[in-house]
Amino acid sequence: MIVIRCPYCNEQRTEEELSYGGEANIVRAIEPDTLSDTEWTDYLFMRNNPKGLLQEQWCCAAGCGQWFKIERHTVTHEITEVIRFDQQFSCKKDS
Ligand SMILES: [Zn+2]
Repeated sequence: MIVIRCPYCNEQRTEEELSYGGEANIVRAIEPDTLSDTEWTDYLFMRNNPKGLLQEQWCCAAGCGQWFKIERHTVTHEITEVIRFDQQFSCKKDS
């Protein structure tokens, strides 16, 4: 079971109380009309699926409703960092 402390309301929530928002830091194209079909497809569907650390976005759905970001190991579910949505991860993987 994944348990995360929300960085906004500071309440500890289980994964049933949270909503998973997928990989974090997916950058929306400034001018989507200029993208090729391949670039648009990559933006919409292509995500990292590592067996290791992944930066994700979650919503405190049963609590304050705020979105925040975490870094989680996809095998062990160890959470190495929890930050507010407007913050940057401290590790080198953040881009
Ligand atoms: Zn919260």
